[in-house]
Amino acid sequence: MANLTGLTFGQKEWTPKFVEAIDKETCLGCGRCFKVCGHNVLTLLGVNEDGEIIDEDDDDDDVERQVMGIVNKDNCVGCEACAKICPKNCYTNEPLAM
Ligand code: SF4
Ligand code: SF4
Repeated sequence: MANLTGLTFGQKEWTPKFVEAIDKETCLGCGRCFKVCGHNVLTLLGVNEDGEIIDEDDDDDDVERQVMGIVNKDNCVGCEACAKICPKNCYTNEPLAM
């Protein structure tokens, strides 16, 4: 099965690797990946003391720490900037099988 490929400005073929998962156990919530993503894919999410993602409507007092989450996966262009900047290797990025 082939993977989706794109072209560089110089018409060279490359294989995008789209964001698949972020390890919330190792994420520091540092926000580096959020800053480098130019496609509005990511956002910081609150986590409670049981390690569960907190709903936006819940009380902020329950937030023990923050982790990065994938909220607009459809916007991802597969550039891997997020994975490259992450100091904790939290990212899994995969090509798209066609
Ligand atoms: S691969 Fe690129 S576009 Fe996709 S989430 Fe990471 S930085 Fe954003
Ligand atoms: S760069 Fe890595 S550690 Fe920092 S918020 Fe993003 S996923 Fe978490």
